[in-house]
Amino acid sequence: MHTACNHHLLSSSFILQIPNKFTKHHSVTVFTSPTTNGNILNPILGCSKKSSMDGPKKTTRKNPRRSSYGSSRKSVLRKTFKQEQVTFTAPISEDPVVAIIGGGMSGLLCALQLEKRGVRSTVFDTGIHGLGGRMGTRTVDPSMIFDHAAQFFTVSNPLFSELVDDWSHKGYVRESLGVIGELEAGGDFLPFPSSPPRYIAINGMRTLADSLLSQSSMVNVVRPCWISSIEPFNGMWHLSENGKHRGEFDAIVIAHNGKCANRLLSTSGLPLIARQMKRLDLSSVWALLAAFEDPLPLPPKAAGIPFEGAFVKGIDSISWIGNNTQKLFNSQNEGPHCWTIFSTSSFGKRHKVPQENIPNATAEKVKGLMLAGVENALGVPIGSLKKPIYTRVQLWGAALPTNSPGIPCIFDPLGRAGICGDWLLGSSLEAAALSGISLANHTADYLKSGGSRPDEFAVGLHDEFQPLDGHDIGQFPGLESNNKDIHEAQLQLGV
Ligand SMILES: Cc1cc2nc3c(=O)[nH]c(=O)nc-3n(C[C@H](O)[C@H](O)[C@H](O)COP(=O)(O)OP(=O)(O)OC[C@H]3O[C@@H](n4cnc5c(N)ncnc54)[C@H](O)[C@@H]3O)c2cc1C
Repeated sequence: MHTACNHHLLSSSFILQIPNKFTKHHSVTVFTSPTTNGNILNPILGCSKKSSMDGPKKTTRKNPRRSSYGSSRKSVLRKTFKQEQVTFTAPISEDPVVAIIGGGMSGLLCALQLEKRGVRSTVFDTGIHGLGGRMGTRTVDPSMIFDHAAQFFTVSNPLFSELVDDWSHKGYVRESLGVIGELEAGGDFLPFPSSPPRYIAINGMRTLADSLLSQSSMVNVVRPCWISSIEPFNGMWHLSENGKHRGEFDAIVIAHNGKCANRLLSTSGLPLIARQMKRLDLSSVWALLAAFEDPLPLPPKAAGIPFEGAFVKGIDSISWIGNNTQKLFNSQNEGPHCWTIFSTSSFGKRHKVPQENIPNATAEKVKGLMLAGVENALGVPIGSLKKPIYTRVQLWGAALPTNSPGIPCIFDPLGRAGICGDWLLGSSLEAAALSGISLANHTADYLKSGGSRPDEFAVGLHDEFQPLDGHDIGQFPGLESNNKDIHEAQLQLGV
């Protein structure tokens, strides 16, 4: 799986293709002071009290920004479109530090690539149990492990392939040799004849996320931490978590999406970035984790083989069933048998509730409908499955992108801020990884340029979005749907 590549090309070759429309469309304000040294930090605003009150005025923004948390969607939208562009003109420090908000695949690879380029970073992530975002794993006990979002990943890009080789040598991932395929209602299973290699993390996806930074020396991780405010001040970005100052940075990377990102950006002084983020549409998917004492009664074509999972067709309540016990322990006979079951996105949308606060009645209803979906898929009578010994229902309210600009990353050089994430290139771990790497290279190029030629570094601020197709849980080149964007990005980036 080895291929030569030039990491540097990842950013510089696509910059040339991005028309610079940045300065044509938006008025800018000047934001200059070089340093915050000696100032007292205001814990609420995360900015310098002394400078803002006693010293010369550092910003000319008309509307003082207030925290938008708790504000309505309408007011978030209004703020997003009304805000003025912030412009940093202070020289970039000799040893700049980048804040990465989000410790999923894209944020982690952004941090690693920045390190390769000699740039320090701090990754902030909300994860209580670990890093990884949608690479979540729930370990109930050592025999009950569930990947509760990403199940496996495929590789189509040579740069990603090189990385996966390295992870494989380090023992973080391995190729999964089980069988997957398509399962039609009634138990008609069709194995994928020659699917491309699929990779899994040794003890669940989260362990990969937690291992990725284990050898880094230039990345600081702050977790659990929910960045609630980003404030430009005195030539730096000041980050805070509910009023607690979390440091100041030369540039920021938004490595998450959805409601949180829209709120964070709505008052950030980054209207172009905020607008692109707002264009993103996301699906909702229910996940049911279920452990059974006995093996599930698989249909004839799936029995007697190392059946690991299937994309389910023709059943509204489920789109995927995956056997974690087979995948992680290569075991079909010894229980407990731990399955991850995902709904379709249409079912997710119809049964959507606030994901932080799922009413018991909804959880029970969803669980019942999804278990009935499993019975339907396996072709066994409804109500015949033995009750699971463990279940957990979770809603991925911002599961997967349904549209994408099809570019590796977005960068606003005036605001010294960028976005990375799966949605920029598709909907998979590979897309997220490539986006993070691309933004790191671009940011490093920009920082090394000293910030004096911002126009050359504007990327993706005006690109249109196109609908994305694929499975309800992502795009996997070679597994029925093909992600053209990753291949095109590969060509564009010269790898
Ligand atoms: C149900 C489901 C199944 C999937 N199955 C597969 C699969 O089998 N294979 C595959 O390749 N892909 C799959 N995917 C897609 C894959 O999981 C994603 O494409 C990928 O994980 C996205 O990574 P990311 O870095 O872009 O975002 P995320 O993983 O979402 O990371 C963003 C991180 O930022 C954190 N964050 C958010 N706001 C803040 C804040 N204000 N402060 C600090 N931190 C913050 C979040 O908590 C999160 O940890 C699946 C997704 C879902 C939902």
